[in-house]
Order: sequence, then structure tokens, then C-alpha cells
Amino acid sequence: MTIVDQAHDGRATAAGAGIICPWVSGAEDAAFYRLYVEGARYYGELVHLLAELGETDLGFRRVGALVVSDDADELAAFDTVLSRRRADTPEMGATSLLSPRETGALFPPLRGDLAGLHVAGGARVDGRRMAAGLLRAAQQLGARVIEGHAELVAAAGRVTGVRLRDTTIAADRVVVAAGAWAPTLLLPLGIALPIEPQRGQIVHLHVAGQDTRDWPVVLPQGGHYLLAFDDSRVVAGATRESGVGFDYRVTASGQAEVLAEALHVAPGLATATVIETRVGFRPVGPGIRPLLGPVRGLDGLVIGNGLGAAGLTIGPFAGRLLCDAALGRDMPLDITPFAPLRNAGPGAPARPLR
Ligand SMILES: Cc1cc2nc3c(=O)[nH]c(=O)nc-3n(C[C@H](O)[C@H](O)[C@H](O)COP(=O)(O)OP(=O)(O)OC[C@H]3O[C@@H](n4cnc5c(N)ncnc54)[C@H](O)[C@@H]3O)c2cc1C
Repeated sequence: MTIVDQAHDGRATAAGAGIICPWVSGAEDAAFYRLYVEGARYYGELVHLLAELGETDLGFRRVGALVVSDDADELAAFDTVLSRRRADTPEMGATSLLSPRETGALFPPLRGDLAGLHVAGGARVDGRRMAAGLLRAAQQLGARVIEGHAELVAAAGRVTGVRLRDTTIAADRVVVAAGAWAPTLLLPLGIALPIEPQRGQIVHLHVAGQDTRDWPVVLPQGGHYLLAFDDSRVVAGATRESGVGFDYRVTASGQAEVLAEALHVAPGLATATVIETRVGFRPVGPGIRPLLGPVRGLDGLVIGNGLGAAGLTIGPFAGRLLCDAALGRDMPLDITPFAPLRNAGPGAPARPLR
């Protein structure tokens, strides 16, 4: 197996927050929700597999998640919803309603009037470390990793490999998991992949003298959030900006939005040091469902894309499914609902190759 990665500035995995807590999702699409929770479930197995290969520096920890609100009744109602969901997904763990004092004890910078709903199974992962650990593990198992720009090679209705600057690599199957850049890669084959970049700006803060290792993920109402990593680091996310293309910049309004939302919920972060702001392009499709699987009418090609805002949770499991698809193995989940070109018309194949 050969892995080719251009490591673009703005690749989503290097900017992603790393929250793994699908059970609190408001997503109503049942197929998506199933994939999302399976992604979280798979982490247990994956972390174990990687540990057997000596890969433990992944920034993964089951720290729990705290849904916070100034409305305790609302949290109690949500707790009832989660209790029902737990029947299918025990890995969610126990939930408990916490007073503002108990909530503040778990995440000290929080505002004093916020009560919490604690979800024990919530976790966080460092996308950069996890991706690096996966690559090292793949290399241990015989994979070759090449940094560079790949183009697809195709002939007579099948993809036969990839072309790099000075070489061509033949392959029985090519899995294109090129994030927001995939449409450019696929267009020469006549495939119009409906994926667009959605910019996310996310701020990293240092809270001097605080042991943040066990701080839970904080999920207020709305799309913003906080989470912590081992090195006295708190991460505040994030913007969701469509229509800005691949504009890899930290903007004044992006920075202001993220900090204002963070300080509204956690005023205790006001004196934290801003370490950096990361920028990533989420690969976003027309709906919430990712695009996963082979392409009808074009043998040898498998697509993995559209992970949107949930890709650090779903990504490793999606990778496993794509591997099964490429090798023609049975799959632990039916991926038919995620057929990559399902919106291109009933049974539309890729356009015939040149
Ligand atoms: C700010 C932010 C916060 C997020 N928070 C979370 C979160 O808390 N939880 C969660 O589950 N998800 C989160 N996500 C979503 C998650 O990060 C993405 O869904 C996921 O990382 C997408 O992974 P990907 O591999 O599809 O794309 P990417 O990580 O963008 O990777 C695509 C790769 O393809 C390479 N590539 C492209 N074209 C070529 C080519 N022609 N040749 C060679 N290589 C190529 C690129 O260089 C890149 O390395 C967040 C995302 C952002 C931006």
C-alpha cells in the first residue's frame, strides 16, 4: 500500500478540535447518526490496536463532555433524550446532572451560573497526533508514505494508479480521501464531486499553572465549544465559514467571534495567553451524510469525503470501511446510503473517460 499526501496548509485534520461525542448531536439523519456513533465506538478498538504497535501518543483521552446551560430544566429534558439513546450506544457512558458549582469544579474558567449535563463517554483526540500515529503504524505494517501531489491515472473505464511529479504508481484500487481538494483531483475523470471547503478558525490558549489534562469537553448551546489538552492548553472553536474558498488566513472577525463566544461561556479564560489560531477547511457536501464507497462506472476508484464537522470522530472508522470496500470485504456497516455520487441522478455513472 502506498499513501500519497500533499499535506496542504489548511488540511482539516491538522486544525480539527477533536471532540468525540456524537450522542449529543442534533442531527436527524438516521444513517448519518449511525455512522457517527460507530465512529466513536471504533475509537476503543483503534486505540487498543495502535497501542499494540507502540503508538500511544495520540492525544486521546476519555475526559467526558459537559453540556452547559443556565436552564437546568432544559438539561434535565436533554438527559431524558440521552437516556433513550444509551440503549443502542452504551459507550456513551453514564450521564449526570450537575449544579453550577459541580460544573465549575470540572472546568474552572466556566461562568458561575452554568449548570451541566455530564456525559462520561465523551472524549477528545489530537488530530495531528492521531494522524501521525496512524501513518507510523501503517508504515510498520508495510505501507509506503510519500509526500507530494498526486493525479489520477485512468484508462478504459478504470483507475489504474496515480501520477506524481516524476513517477507513476500502478494500483489495483485508489482511495481518494483528499478532503476539500478532492473535486480538483476528480474533475479530469469527469466526476463533479459536490464538496466545498468550509473554513474553520480555532484558537489555542495557554492557561498558566493549570493542570488541564482531565478537563472535559464543554458544549454550550450553539455551535461553539471548548476543550482542553494535556499541556495547560484550552482550545476554543470555531468559525464555520462557507464561500471563502481556500483563503488560508486568520481574520479579525473570525478571531473576535471565537474569543467572544469562549469568554461568554468561560470568563475565567480572559487572562489566558493566545498561543495560535489554526485554520482548517472542512470538506462539506450538500447534505450531512459523508460520501463513501466505490464509484459506479469507474472501476478501481473508491472515494472517502464529506466528513464535514464530524471527521475526527468518523474518519478512522470511515477509513476502515473504505479499506473493506477497496478489498471487497464484508463491512460492519452498510455504506449504500453514503454512495459518493448518489446526488448525481438515479444510478448516474461517472462520465466516460477520455
Ligand atoms: C476548526 C475545525 C474543528 C473541527 N472539530 C472537529 C471535532 O471536534 N470533531 C470532529 O469529529 N471533527 C472535527 N472537525 C472535522 C474534521 O477535522 C474533518 O472532517 C476531517 O479532518 C476531514 O478529514 P479529511 O481527511 O477528509 O480531510 P483533510 O484532513 O483536509 O485531509 C485531506 C488531505 O488530502 C491531501 N490532498 C488533497 N489533494 C491531494 C493531492 N492531489 N495529492 C495528494 N494529497 C492531496 C491534503 O494535502 C490533505 O492532507 C473539525 C474541523 C475543523 C476545520
